[in-house]
Amino acid sequence: MKDCIFCKIIKEEIPCKKVFENESVLAFYDIKPKARTHVLIVPKQHINQFSEIEEFSSDLIAQTMKSVAHVAKMLGLDHYKILVNNGAGSGQEVFHLHIHLISDQII
Ligand code: 5GP
Ligand code: ZN
Repeated sequence: MKDCIFCKIIKEEIPCKKVFENESVLAFYDIKPKARTHVLIVPKQHINQFSEIEEFSSDLIAQTMKSVAHVAKMLGLDHYKILVNNGAGSGQEVFHLHIHLISDQII
């Protein structure tokens, strides 16, 4: 989607520190980490926010969630939180669905 910062990252128009990628999902480090490890897991298809996921393929949503577990395992994390902000009132700043993977574990 035009003017979406995460779509631009996915299209490599804006750089990121990539952690993992497959055909459906991209994971990269948050530019302003709120913990020792802070990764964003993003479906490549543009979804504005979590509350819209029923409109999208179950496979894409499953792939996105499985990628969170995959990235955590890749990084050697056993203890972490996952977080999704939904809507501006919750603190959502980027309107392209993303899952925060957050951990203070020393890896
Ligand atoms: P939200 O508040 O929408 O749930 O989270 C958006 C996150 O995206 C924030 O933690 C913010 O630091 C991160 N972010 C915003 N712009 C960029 C960017 O250009 N690159 C990266 N890597 N992270 C970004
Ligand atoms: Zn987007």
